[in-house]
Amino acid sequence: MAALFSLRKVLGVAVGRGVRGVSQLAELPEMHQMLRQTCRDFADRELAPIAGRLDREHTFPAKQVLELGALGVMAVEVPEHLGGAGLDYLAYSLAVEELSRGCASTGVIVSVNNSLYLGPVLKFGTEEQKEKWITPFTTGEKVGCFALSEPGNGSDAGAASTTARQEGEEWVLNGTKAWITNCWDASAAVVFATTDKSLKHKGISAFLVPMPHPGLSLGKKEDKLGIRASSTANLIMEDCRVPLGNLLGQRGMGFKIAMQTLDSGRIGIASQALGIAQAALDCAADYAHKRTAFGAPIAKMQAIQFKLADMAVALESARLLTWKSALLRDAKKPFSKEAAMAKLAASEAATFISHQAIQVLGGMGYVTDMPAERHYRDARITEIYEGTSEIQRLVIANLLLKEYQP
Ligand SMILES: Cc1cc2nc3c(=O)[nH]c(=O)nc-3n(C[C@H](O)[C@H](O)[C@H](O)COP(=O)(O)OP(=O)(O)OC[C@H]3O[C@@H](n4cnc5c(N)ncnc54)[C@H](O)[C@@H]3O)c2cc1C
Repeated sequence: MAALFSLRKVLGVAVGRGVRGVSQLAELPEMHQMLRQTCRDFADRELAPIAGRLDREHTFPAKQVLELGALGVMAVEVPEHLGGAGLDYLAYSLAVEELSRGCASTGVIVSVNNSLYLGPVLKFGTEEQKEKWITPFTTGEKVGCFALSEPGNGSDAGAASTTARQEGEEWVLNGTKAWITNCWDASAAVVFATTDKSLKHKGISAFLVPMPHPGLSLGKKEDKLGIRASSTANLIMEDCRVPLGNLLGQRGMGFKIAMQTLDSGRIGIASQALGIAQAALDCAADYAHKRTAFGAPIAKMQAIQFKLADMAVALESARLLTWKSALLRDAKKPFSKEAAMAKLAASEAATFISHQAIQVLGGMGYVTDMPAERHYRDARITEIYEGTSEIQRLVIANLLLKEYQP
């Protein structure tokens, strides 16, 4: 950690200047380059060497998360007066990509805390709520989670069956939330529940729930294909009571909060996918130089070169889409379509690239001695959470067709 510097100190002045134009995408501003390098160094030194073990042992990287908190990465966009780094979304995207290159599980832990937990509290919380529910979650000592999906509905998030009823000065929550990232390690959750099912998605509200808390229990840790160092579990509420003041935003605003949160969150998952894809490409290109077959490095074979070229094109185009969506968000312009495009392109690129990387490595791609098989397993989830690829296509098509409305 000695060689690393705090993003708070070095990059605290970056917001508001530098990139604002897509034409400048070819080269990042100096501040963002420094941030990228800092996160890259951290990933190389602190994450990549242990990512395989964390994956095998399903271990939450508590020490590394604390160090990331000290760097400012657990709360990139949160203003400095609330304890965050006060940087922009492009900075956040770069950080998540670089960390995911070292360890995809750490990437999603960081992404969920930043965009799914802190994001909605920052945007919709009162000043009092921000102090209580944001500041302690900026240091890496505490992480938050986002509880929208349920066993009976994931893509159809408006069909929430978890209920919230008002009783005196309290909300009483009942129901089960499914697949909640960070669940076992979290100290708070943004929970979505309906106060009136007949109103469908307009009856959903968002609540801030401390963890642990009476009436709240966790399901078993899911045994997952990838991102195995991050915990995923059900969050079960049985007469779980929180004060009326724990309502986030207005009553009935929950679906809007969830959808706006996911718009931003998709940039984080796109960035996670870029990091996984970059790690897979790095692994394949390096191996191609070192492995000889038929008397020459396999990098000399056109079949291998074409694979690497296709991988690099998929990665770079997805990266440009991701940066574009972050830039639009930073410029306070509409970005929902671009964020969905970025998430779709980056997640499909990660799956394609990590699949091809295994092919380049041959047998060594299939065993845990090399990280290629982990990248392949880690990549797959990026096509599922925060909206499946099918849902991204729906979002893109709906917004695209509106632009062509006669
Ligand atoms: C590891 C992991 C972590 C997760 N973390 C979180 C979290 O932190 N918080 C949270 O709230 N949720 C989380 N999720 C849930 C995740 O967001 C959902 O799994 C996802 O939205 C899909 O929902 P589903 O699993 O219910 O699939 P379904 O909605 O049942 O979809 C099944 C299939 O049908 C397709 N489909 C559904 N509707 C349509 C449609 N209208 N048009 C076309 N195709 C459609 C889907 O694309 C998919 O292929 C996580 C999931 C996993 C696996």
